[in-house]
Amino acid sequence: MGDVQLVKGSCPLDCQDTCSWVAHVEDGRVVKVVGAKEHPFTRGILCAKVKDYEQRTYAPDRLLHPLARVGDKGSAEFERITWEEAVGRIADRFGNIVDDFGAEALMPLFFLGSLGAVQHDALRRLFHVLGASRPTGSVCAQAGNALAAEGHPRGFDPEEIVDAQLILVWGGEPADDCASSLALHHSGAQAARCAHRGHRPDSYPYCECCR
Ligand code: SF4
Repeated sequence: MGDVQLVKGSCPLDCQDTCSWVAHVEDGRVVKVVGAKEHPFTRGILCAKVKDYEQRTYAPDRLLHPLARVGDKGSAEFERITWEEAVGRIADRFGNIVDDFGAEALMPLFFLGSLGAVQHDALRRLFHVLGASRPTGSVCAQAGNALAAEGHPRGFDPEEIVDAQLILVWGGEPADDCASSLALHHSGAQAARCAHRGHRPDSYPYCECCR
């Protein structure tokens, strides 16, 4: 076994927490990631999606090259194609749409996911040059944008969660997707009760009151 290097970083996924982590690297390969306990906001937490991130990174079935569908939709029949062919097919399709319907018939829909800010915005230049439609924000954020446009507040200051006496989580699963709010919650001077709809107790390793 070689020396293990500890490399500080942060989760690349698109939730507001940006949990701080420490990657354990052995012989140039990440063998595990753990939450960085000393981080003042995320306090050692990684959610269920990310606490085994090294397994996803090195998964043998991870998609690493373009595939073209060769069967009916849903048949899961694909063949491997080159990057040149993949880009060429997309460019041809774009060109046909522009010729037949005009450039605004191209409507880019993208947001963050695991892209990060740089990749997220990289395609904008291409679509601007093409003259494509320019959607405002993402499809999934529009409900929030509409509320904000009417003057309603968008959420609350996450650091105020320590003052909560009751936390009602509706339609969300913080331990799976946005976990550091739980760390803040348990750092609070007063222990709030969490009311999770349909929570799974075994998915709350950090949340004593939810077990
Ligand atoms: S809660 Fe999960 S997805 Fe969000 S930043 Fe933290 S580890 Fe990443």
